[in-house]
Amino acid sequence: MAKPLELEQAPKAREYLFASDFDQTLSFNDSGIILSELLGLQGFQEKVSGLSRINLVQQGGELAYLLLHDPQYRCVRREHLTQAGKRIRLKKNIGLLSEILDQGIDGHRFHFYVISAAPEEVIQAALDNIVPPDHIFGTRFRYDEHSGEIQSIIRVSAGYGKVAVLDELQSKLQISHDRVVYVGDGSSDVHVMLHVNRRDGFTIAVSENALIAPIARRAILSDDTVSVLIPILEEIVGWDPSHIRKFLEFRGVIIQEWDKVRTDRLTIRQGTEETAGNGEVPVA
Ligand SMILES: [Mg+2]
Repeated sequence: MAKPLELEQAPKAREYLFASDFDQTLSFNDSGIILSELLGLQGFQEKVSGLSRINLVQQGGELAYLLLHDPQYRCVRREHLTQAGKRIRLKKNIGLLSEILDQGIDGHRFHFYVISAAPEEVIQAALDNIVPPDHIFGTRFRYDEHSGEIQSIIRVSAGYGKVAVLDELQSKLQISHDRVVYVGDGSSDVHVMLHVNRRDGFTIAVSENALIAPIARRAILSDDTVSVLIPILEEIVGWDPSHIRKFLEFRGVIIQEWDKVRTDRLTIRQGTEETAGNGEVPVA
């Protein structure tokens, strides 16, 4: 008897975890600045700089610390965090980025999550109807039932805290180490980027921050978040620039300028007589 024909199955998509920072990666300003403006509080930046100098809290966790310990911020309630979130100016096309990642690109599908030190309520309000709330991991507070005051911190996803969240997500989604993409802009992303790189994942910096730029595998500067797809399309999907342009144009996005710059940073100092030779050029 003839063997039944085997049905041809479509190849299964490769699943990736795409994790992104929030403040200054998906938005233009830090959440703490917007919240302080909303409350009419001065001196937020100075307080953050002071905390950074003494290394008391994880980089990026300064707002969480101030909300819990600074008397000026004692008046903050959950509603203020939501209001601040609604005021945040987002970078362009986060919705489109999320849609493209979710639909998948040429057999690669990406689960989009936000991991940030900003209060979860702020990010959820800012990304309302763009990223589902259960895909957002920010700093979580416990509130007093009666007064609504912030009582304690449940979790701060800053610095090493981001690594912990990423690991949890990876095991929940069953994603291997080399299928993790992390996007960030600042000092709070150093730990997690080193962690992702060490395990053969892919890291993208969206700023020229001197701490991040040498660590991230690629850097991309743009006010449109769809730009982070470019290193992914080049290095993970394996497309050339003309293919990338056509793909984005089809999705309604036109790349106007694309300057590829590789920057070598150097500090040169004057040598001493000891280090200098006798005027002759050394021969190899
Ligand atoms: Mg940031």
